[in-house]
Amino acid sequence: MKKVIVIGGGIIGLCSAYYLSKEGCEVTVIDQSAMDFGASYVNAGYLTPSHIIPLAAPGAMKQGLKWMFNPASPLFIKPRLEPGFLQWAWAFNKSCSEKNVKNSITAIKDINLLSVDLFSELKQQENFNFQLEHKGLLMLCQTQKALHHEVEVAYLAAKEGLEVTVLTAAEIGKMQPQTYINAIGAVHFKCDWHTTPNVFMEEFKAHLQENGVQFFKNEKVIDLRLEGTSIKEINTEKQILQADEFVLAAGSSSSLLSRKLGIKIPLEAGKGYRINTQRETGISIPAILTEARVAVTPMDGFTRFAGTMEIAGIHHKINPVRVEAIAKAVQKYYPEINVSTEEKAQAACGLRPVSPDGKPYIGKSSKCDNLTIATGHAMMGWSMGPATGKLVSEVISGKKLSMNIDAFHPDRRF
Ligand SMILES: Cc1cc2nc3c(=O)[nH]c(=O)nc-3n(C[C@H](O)[C@H](O)[C@H](O)COP(=O)(O)OP(=O)(O)OC[C@H]3O[C@@H](n4cnc5c(N)ncnc54)[C@H](O)[C@@H]3O)c2cc1C
Repeated sequence: MKKVIVIGGGIIGLCSAYYLSKEGCEVTVIDQSAMDFGASYVNAGYLTPSHIIPLAAPGAMKQGLKWMFNPASPLFIKPRLEPGFLQWAWAFNKSCSEKNVKNSITAIKDINLLSVDLFSELKQQENFNFQLEHKGLLMLCQTQKALHHEVEVAYLAAKEGLEVTVLTAAEIGKMQPQTYINAIGAVHFKCDWHTTPNVFMEEFKAHLQENGVQFFKNEKVIDLRLEGTSIKEINTEKQILQADEFVLAAGSSSSLLSRKLGIKIPLEAGKGYRINTQRETGISIPAILTEARVAVTPMDGFTRFAGTMEIAGIHHKINPVRVEAIAKAVQKYYPEINVSTEEKAQAACGLRPVSPDGKPYIGKSSKCDNLTIATGHAMMGWSMGPATGKLVSEVISGKKLSMNIDAFHPDRRF
């Protein structure tokens, strides 16, 4: 029986543990936190085959620079004189190209579709309960410019075989009659699904534990020691551990650990915030408020508003200006919904692990033969979780891969 240590207990680490355990491995998950907060808990819960365009698309760097001095902007890149950031920024700028978009679409779509199937399989086959709804995603637009752009993306998505329709304001009203929506039109990606992440995470952890996965919480991995091209042991703050195989799924901190092995995977933390409201909102279909880049999700018993991408280092400080910007955007699109001061005060944040080209790193680096890297999923880590976990288990067990993962190679150059 192979012994595997998974570093990081977010959605990627847990999904890796699940599929590895199903393969008969003895799995331990180590996390520096109590495993109850962060990106995998605060996200918008979308499963997004619709998101075929990576963050690194033409114009993204320009937009980021334009918004640099606007504290309420949805994308904020804080320049820092750190080699890791400078390398990432250079690679991100280079990736903001038509070529990167063209090379990413199929791989991103395929991994998202695989994940949708696996979420459904989990729902049907396992004895833990979680919300999984198929209502699609509305890209709500208030300006002709945004609508035009979304229609262009819809055209590309349709060419990829995804189900998409363009809606007028009246059609939006008919779809969502319980609350007025201030938009001139929308694109409805029928291919998308949604979930309630924090509920899923709690249920999933309990299920894994019942099925023999061991957890070390509140225990930070501080070092990894190579012997030749294999990891011999890892040091946590409390103990030294050995295993046959290791999975690096430490989210936005992954590159800090990979560097200890001489493996460079450019990665930045992209902070995002969420506000929950328990009040009846009348929202039953998930939506993205396109111009404001705010996600709206009708979750299990509450509505979540989530947004911003703040590239400013690894910390969980809440910036009230950005929380306020999300609340304002909500009222601009849903004039009947007013986010309360109390709801804003309870906002939480998480760090997305953002690779420069918008694609995750999945697989083994040539520098280490018993480490599988699984990170860098940026805005789609929730959606890509189960597929990533399955691919990780296939890499480690040497099985045929469920899809081609060349585009996600950790050794790729930018
Ligand atoms: C506001 C917001 C909305 C989002 N909406 C969506 C969405 O709708 N759909 C979607 O697909 N994605 C969404 N995302 C992105 C998604 O949440 C992330 O991509 C995903 O959660 C990343 O998961 P992860 O397991 O890689 O990282 P994390 O969830 O960050 O988990 C990494 C874990 O590693 C641990 N760790 C780090 N360093 C160490 C160490 N040295 N030792 C031990 N443990 C360590 C951390 O404590 C953490 O628990 C959103 C993100 C945010 C912030």
